[in-house]
Amino acid sequence: MQESITVFNGDGTDTVSPQDFMRAYRRSMIAAGIVDDQERAENFEFYLRTGSVADQWYAALPAQTRHSWRSLAMEFDDRWEPRTAVKKTQQQLEEELTNLKLDSKDLGKVISVGGLDMYTHISWAHDVLRLAKEAGIENSNSLIWIVRKGLPPIIKELIPATQASWVHFTRAIEDASIEKIKEGAEKERVKQEEADALKARIQQLERQISAPDVAMRNLTARMQRANINTTPAQPINPPVQPANAQAPAAGAQQVRGAYAPASTGGRGNIRYVRQNPLNAPMRASPEEKAAMLPRLTALVHHEDTPAGLAGYAAQVRDWTARHGNIRIDETTPYPLRPGTAMLCSGECFKCGGHGHISSACLVAEESLLPIQERMWRILCTRILGTINRNRAVQVMVVFGDDEEGNGEGPLA
Ligand SMILES: [Zn+2]
Repeated sequence: MQESITVFNGDGTDTVSPQDFMRAYRRSMIAAGIVDDQERAENFEFYLRTGSVADQWYAALPAQTRHSWRSLAMEFDDRWEPRTAVKKTQQQLEEELTNLKLDSKDLGKVISVGGLDMYTHISWAHDVLRLAKEAGIENSNSLIWIVRKGLPPIIKELIPATQASWVHFTRAIEDASIEKIKEGAEKERVKQEEADALKARIQQLERQISAPDVAMRNLTARMQRANINTTPAQPINPPVQPANAQAPAAGAQQVRGAYAPASTGGRGNIRYVRQNPLNAPMRASPEEKAAMLPRLTALVHHEDTPAGLAGYAAQVRDWTARHGNIRIDETTPYPLRPGTAMLCSGECFKCGGHGHISSACLVAEESLLPIQERMWRILCTRILGTINRNRAVQVMVVFGDDEEGNGEGPLA
């Protein structure tokens, strides 16, 4: 039976590629038993749409080319070069591969893919291999590390880090024990729930603590920004006392000298806000406070030096070995990051610096204190208040360039 060939336009509107048109033409010549070189060449014209780009191209060819199939085919290939699939750039590929997310919480679940029931990790492995094949890298291990980085911890545990190729990598995932995957996914879920609960508790405590203190801390933050180049700040006496001022209680001075404007003497619009002393009880009994006090100094707060950092790392290891990864309470003092502020000194619980409250903390997520240290700082301040406010070395945190600068200046 004769194959019907659609005529060729050559202007990109054809439904088949130039190469497939050419193959179809050759097949039809064979089918028709036309073997003569010249006859094949001369018939070609009948398969080009009248007046089309291809038709005009043919008409413009030298006569000897139009009569020789060999020459004509070469000219055709030259005019309509075989299209090669566009190769994906490294960046596109990385993007697509990293967009294929395998979420811990979906592990062990069965989904339907094209009418087939399969586990999420198997379906994921299929997608990854398809993409690697598309990019022509399936037999290399190029970029595997990027995908591996985003894998759920349990899969990472089960799959060796070094893989010869994407084929090996995806096969290893498909072959991983489903029991172990389910077990690991369950552990992850419990861990995540604990972490979420802890975060919620921290936020609640932060709200409780910062509410009465917000006004003062906001003011001090503004003042400290204004005085950014004047550290170490020299304590001075408050220049003006509000008419209704009362003698400040020890440890709760109304206006800290360092926060008074340093450069201008005549600023009339400074408001002096009375500090709500946080060393007032926060529902903690005297016994609770007495028990808490020694825990503040139970662990050495190391200096920000190589030796200090090593000491700190050892403290963290020790703490984790004793208490596990997340849980913390009033009886489990957590090591303080070297260079950060003293406990109960009105510090930001997120970064351990002074001059701002946690909710205004701009320190990048990855530079924040460990969640246990944040919790520990909150617990200490909740029970004892900011008892160290007056004797703490001020630790300034410079936002904006990812560098934490310590503008340290003793206040008293
Ligand atoms: Zn902070």
